[in-house]
Amino acid sequence: MGAAVTARKGTIKSKTYSVAGDTVEDILTDLEKKQIGGTDAVGDCTTAVKVPSFSKFEEKENEKFKGKDKVEWFVTPKSGEVEMEGTITLPVLKSDKKLSDKGKKEWGRFLRDLTAHEDLHVAAAWSVTEEIAKELSAMKGTGQGKDKNAAIRAAEADFVKLYKDAYGGDKVAKRVTKAHEALDAKGNTFTLDATVEGE
Ligand SMILES: [Zn+2]
Repeated sequence: MGAAVTARKGTIKSKTYSVAGDTVEDILTDLEKKQIGGTDAVGDCTTAVKVPSFSKFEEKENEKFKGKDKVEWFVTPKSGEVEMEGTITLPVLKSDKKLSDKGKKEWGRFLRDLTAHEDLHVAAAWSVTEEIAKELSAMKGTGQGKDKNAAIRAAEADFVKLYKDAYGGDKVAKRVTKAHEALDAKGNTFTLDATVEGE
């Protein structure tokens, strides 16, 4: 049996902003002037992880339960999708026609490094998405009552409590931010090396 709750990667949008210059130094100046001030100054990856709500559950009786005039039931989510979406913002060079070969190479290196880093941000948010899907598939509400209906009602209330404790308010957003911060703690400074063109 597959997991009840799965992870889904939605659209990762691409945004750009334009920089210009005939030398690496000019481009660097323009880049610093226009930098978007996102998570990585000259680049950005914004992600959102959406956790579904549940109204339909698999119901299972705890047959080992020995309560006086009571039964115990478990509920787990029937199905659902945790979805992530994202937007990556990167600079584009308006024209490299007047740029030296060394300059073109340096721009290429810079953009490759920055792009690879923003892709890692998508991967970081995706890991959180998959983790949450796994947690939700295993999340089990437990309830007791005088009959099945009462026990299920209590189990669903228990599930709602567990769900809120884990994902209520801004808990999901904070968790995603933490994953991004952990990545950036390994280094997130990207700059053009203007010395490649010499004096
Ligand atoms: Zn970063």
